[in-house]
Amino acid sequence: MQPILRGFLIALMIALVFGAPSALAQDAADTIVIEDQDVTLEFPNLMTFSAYVESSNPIAEVVLEYGVERLTCGTVTARVFPEFTPGNASEVSWTWEMRQSGSEPPGAQIWYRWRVIDEAGNAQVAETQQVTWLDAQHDWRTVSEGMLSLHWYAGSSAFAEELLATAVTAMEQLSQTTGVTPESPVDLYIYADTVDMREAVLYEPGWTGGQAYPAYDIVIIGISPDELEWGKSTIAHELTHVLVGHLTFSCLGSVPTWLNEGIAVYGEGGLDPAAATRLEEAITADELLSVRSLSGAFSEHPDKADLSYSQSYSLVNFLIEEYGAEQLLALFGTLRDGLPVETGLQQIYGFGLEGLEDQWRAAVGAPARQTSEAEPTATPEPTPVPTYPPIDAVPQAPSVAVTSVPTDAPAPTATATPVAAAALDAEDGSAGEVVVPPEPAAAEAIGEVGSDAVQSVWPRMLAIAVVAVILLLLLTLGAGIALFYETRRAKAQK
Ligand SMILES: [Zn+2]
Repeated sequence: MQPILRGFLIALMIALVFGAPSALAQDAADTIVIEDQDVTLEFPNLMTFSAYVESSNPIAEVVLEYGVERLTCGTVTARVFPEFTPGNASEVSWTWEMRQSGSEPPGAQIWYRWRVIDEAGNAQVAETQQVTWLDAQHDWRTVSEGMLSLHWYAGSSAFAEELLATAVTAMEQLSQTTGVTPESPVDLYIYADTVDMREAVLYEPGWTGGQAYPAYDIVIIGISPDELEWGKSTIAHELTHVLVGHLTFSCLGSVPTWLNEGIAVYGEGGLDPAAATRLEEAITADELLSVRSLSGAFSEHPDKADLSYSQSYSLVNFLIEEYGAEQLLALFGTLRDGLPVETGLQQIYGFGLEGLEDQWRAAVGAPARQTSEAEPTATPEPTPVPTYPPIDAVPQAPSVAVTSVPTDAPAPTATATPVAAAALDAEDGSAGEVVVPPEPAAAEAIGEVGSDAVQSVWPRMLAIAVVAVILLLLLTLGAGIALFYETRRAKAQK
């Protein structure tokens, strides 16, 4: 072996023997370990995240970051700071209380990651984990086709297949007649009955048997085997809500109720014979509701509610038959862009809500709209409160919950809007118009009064100054003349 090579190898060995351990020791000094990550669900109230953290330096901070996969108006990350035992190792956990934040719908996908910082400033971030917010007491099974997955636990496979086939057919028909297609996979959760469904969510009295969550692409329904026909039409109805709600999701505006419910009934396949007969009777007797009143919350009175749904369907059916699916899709586009429905209608069809009502009345053979009368069913102001408020079922933005702090700079107001939108998109949620607060006219008026006052003072002061100068000149002139004559008289007297 050549001396140079030998010297190099010896140097390398010395480096390995003495250098490597010190490098390892350096790494060991900054080690932070996050392990035993777990999530336990206590449906529908609690979700507890836990982990064990260990650090070679004392732990300075433990952070849990989490979020929900849904349509939002910006990236929303919630951040909480669980307590930990001071020192180098600690069990950590944090419980998400759904009763405080508003429950997530069954099937919601939640992500989370732990972050640990030591007193030397080193940070360790664990890999992001996913968990499905779903009750474990049921033995869920799944059948899928294309973009649709149906999850169920009671009843035979044939029962589930029949429901899935209904959903697939409804989706295909809706796509053919309106052009509305799914933009992402949709999950349908079928509970054994409405009792089971109510236990799975923070139930609000007054709900119907199904609920659509367009921002999550989730539908939940309680369908017992003896209600199969009702279940099939409800699946089609709620699925349409999800597809249209996803398509029109907007942080700026909302879809009026007649359009939202009208297309959902259209998605069911139209009115059943009894509802069609009642609508005909209302047309003949001219007991129709104004389109404007159908833009807000539907009546809680059952008869009026039935007519609201039937008439909404008839309006949507008229728009599709008369003007085609493309125009309706274009109208949805204007609503997604945040235009009020009046403006959207004008832009696409060339008429507003009253024009729509006039044309629709003519098409179905109803008497002309009475313009002089006050609208009997119109609410004084459009209200964003749904008739059947699905308040607790709609997540109230966990990012703005008491225990959370948004990170990626989403202002709390940015998350407030999608929550409202989700609430309105949910089943039977009304779609109130966005009410723009009036301009601060008083402040402007005060400003104008002030400037007017300034403008009127200046000419007056100028006039006073001119008069004063003239008076001064006259006085000087008078004094000069008097002095001249006084001098002459004194000279003459001499
Ligand atoms: Zn509906």
